[in-house]
Amino acid sequence: MLVLHCPVCGIEGEEADFHCGGEAHLVRPQSHDPENVSDEVLRDYLYLRQNPRGLHCEMWQCTRGCGKWFNAVRDTVTMEFKAFYRMDQKAPDLANFDEGQS
Ligand SMILES: [Zn+2]
Repeated sequence: MLVLHCPVCGIEGEEADFHCGGEAHLVRPQSHDPENVSDEVLRDYLYLRQNPRGLHCEMWQCTRGCGKWFNAVRDTVTMEFKAFYRMDQKAPDLANFDEGQS
């Protein structure tokens, strides 16, 4: 069972109380006009995702509580969440991740 903690409203709940939005910190192509973005850049943005063994940053929505989106660091090996942080907070350095830093 996944247990999440919303860093916005503070509720704690199971996976069913939240909605996963996939990989966090994706960067949109600079142009909003698809004609000015190459097919490769658009393909990468829309479809290519990391699938790491270990720590991974994900977006989650607090559907039972405040409805806000937030980010989480999850270990894909143990399925354990290591940190939760608001969307306006900087992503943790996963290469030097310390559970106490968030
Ligand atoms: Zn919330």
